[in-house]
Amino acid sequence: MKVSTSKTQFETRGSQSTSVAFSEKETHYLERGKEHPDLIYPAHPDSVQEGFEYLYAARKDLRSSSGQQSEKANSARHMGMPTQAMASMIKIMSNIQKGSSQSWEDIEPYFEELEPAPFEPKPGLWDELNRFAKKKWGDVRIGFTELPRQMIFRGKYTLFRYALVASQEMKKDKIAYAPEFRAGQEVMRVYGSLGLVVNEIARWLRKQGLRCQSNHPMGGITNTPSLAGKAGMGWQGRFGLLITPEYGPRVRLAPVFIEHKCFEFTDNRDHDWIEEYCELCQLCEQLCPVQAINSEKVVRIDNVPGVGAIRTCIDRESCFEYFQRTMGCSVCVKVCPFSNGGETYHRLKSVVEKKTI
Ligand code: SF4
Ligand code: SF4
Repeated sequence: MKVSTSKTQFETRGSQSTSVAFSEKETHYLERGKEHPDLIYPAHPDSVQEGFEYLYAARKDLRSSSGQQSEKANSARHMGMPTQAMASMIKIMSNIQKGSSQSWEDIEPYFEELEPAPFEPKPGLWDELNRFAKKKWGDVRIGFTELPRQMIFRGKYTLFRYALVASQEMKKDKIAYAPEFRAGQEVMRVYGSLGLVVNEIARWLRKQGLRCQSNHPMGGITNTPSLAGKAGMGWQGRFGLLITPEYGPRVRLAPVFIEHKCFEFTDNRDHDWIEEYCELCQLCEQLCPVQAINSEKVVRIDNVPGVGAIRTCIDRESCFEYFQRTMGCSVCVKVCPFSNGGETYHRLKSVVEKKTI
């Protein structure tokens, strides 16, 4: 079922958002949504303005660095980025651009016919999809949940209300270099790779007769760490990133929005003890190079279905600026004990359990 919204409400919120630098394709997508205000699934009036617009700006700087002495290229050189690595980064950015463009282009036909389409549930489809993902990308995990409108960023919308969330690992030996370029390169590599993963998962789902919309990990339509937490894939740590049992926070996330509830929800709160561990640890707060992680969490949105309050410790502006300058920072990911992977998750869980006995 779609949630209707008045055109005025959507336009008002849309115009607030379009003052920041969306990609051209996203701008086009947001404009098309205005033609179908009763058929889209819009952000909640309480939703906040976030997203990855700042990274589009970083990408433009990288592109211009191949021809000009841009400020970002200079900063990259100061970080010791060799010319060869710079070329590799430009290639990664080009992949990101390709995957992102594809995700917007794939949904274009839906605008011609947004009325609900039928789908006959197929038993065993979830297992089949998991087998497909595991065989193709060993480090990809998936969850499935209903998307609360509060998790859609202000002024934005999705075409469908159910969400598959995919995570993909960033390699530990690369993240160990944070905040140097080699770690940033790994961050961007997985952004590029996961963008292609969700496009492929969406195509697989379409072959099963499902209408769906992949969103590039830099697409910035929804709050993916909160969404993945709701889907039971992990829990948000103090720094706001999702901590997963397998890789800790060394993952990137991207969603595929689906028209029908074609799988059982994977929602659970098995990992919420992580919040207690964060109270004991606080390493990311102490070691963030720009003090972007505050001691106290503030509530950003209350009464989110299935989640309650969404709270944060992050000073986004400070983090974004440094993240962009270093092309991926990741110091907080590097120092988080959960990033060690392996048995760490269970070892740290027993620390919390002993404390509460
Ligand atoms: S990514 Fe870097 S700047 Fe941002 S919170 Fe983590 S350590 Fe701080
Ligand atoms: S570094 Fe410590 S406080 Fe920060 S998210 Fe990881 S476990 Fe939590």
